[in-house]
Amino acid sequence: MNESADGHWMRLALAQARAAAQDGEVPVGAVVVHQGQLIATGRNAPVQGHDPTAHAEIVALRAAAQHLGNYRLQDCTLYVTLEPCAMCSGAMLHARVARVVFGAADAKTGVAGSVLNLFAQPQLNHQTQVQGGVLAEECAALLGAFFRARRCQQRAQAIARHPLRDDALRTPEARFADLPDYPWAPHYVNDLPALAGLRLHYLDEGPREASHTSITWLCLHGTPAWSYVYRHWLPVLTAAGHRVVAPDLIGFGKSDKPKKDSFHTLQWHQQVLREWVERLDLQRAVLVLHGNAGECGAQLPVQMPERFMDTPDASLPADLSPLEVLPEGAACDAPFPDRGSRAALRAFERVLRERKKL
Ligand SMILES: [Zn+2]
Repeated sequence: MNESADGHWMRLALAQARAAAQDGEVPVGAVVVHQGQLIATGRNAPVQGHDPTAHAEIVALRAAAQHLGNYRLQDCTLYVTLEPCAMCSGAMLHARVARVVFGAADAKTGVAGSVLNLFAQPQLNHQTQVQGGVLAEECAALLGAFFRARRCQQRAQAIARHPLRDDALRTPEARFADLPDYPWAPHYVNDLPALAGLRLHYLDEGPREASHTSITWLCLHGTPAWSYVYRHWLPVLTAAGHRVVAPDLIGFGKSDKPKKDSFHTLQWHQQVLREWVERLDLQRAVLVLHGNAGECGAQLPVQMPERFMDTPDASLPADLSPLEVLPEGAACDAPFPDRGSRAALRAFERVLRERKKL
């Protein structure tokens, strides 16, 4: 069989691998081809099936044997996106598969040449041919993206469980549960140097990859509001293909709330914002300021010119509703269930009053 036919079948195996990823399984896919015809597919599914043997190859071998009505898979080629493990290679040898074609090598568990080569053992081999490296980069990239995303998610979960500092409060999630028009997934960061363990909440919607046409809108709330003021903007800006990030300043929204008023200085909030912008590695950012947000954020584009665009105004979609003052009631009060959690409100009032006097 020539190279392009192998590529064709491997693409079908890749489609199976993608389907596995969507189910939360490690993305490995397989197909079995008999005399030039596709007779079976399989995707990795051990987690969902509570089945340690549910590797893509085993699933595909079982389906192929059912299709042929024979446990011997004569004249069959099995395509799989990842070098097979010992279990699957054993099964393929038992099934007398004529040829095995795999994509990416697996340095940890692959036994078609990486860790060892079961197919080259003269005592075991039934002349099963092996070929690796077909669409290897694509197969490996799919696995890489899956594990990167999973690490990211695990990190986010670890942060979500992050213990609260003794001198701070954390507004219970239930306070935000019934707010309308705020379906956005929470993002947290707690390991910026300036945060000293406090947990900062932010929204991050739209495409993450910076391109030379996309814009990142950095939407900063004024006080006493929080990221909720941007709820009507997020759908409009993300629909236009932009990324939107909107933090809750420490003391506001879903971010941790130090109990002492004296914790809050403009310099400290500005430092947190700078470290947060660095952490998100924002590119081509445009700053949007709501209310008095300029007190904390106005200097960001000046201090970090490499991350901000010069002339953003022309790009704002025309159909954005004007930013409002948050209505009295649930949305305004949600982050502040008691007096202790209102330290930031008192502190900002004082800080801004003092600045006016200067
Ligand atoms: Zn396997």
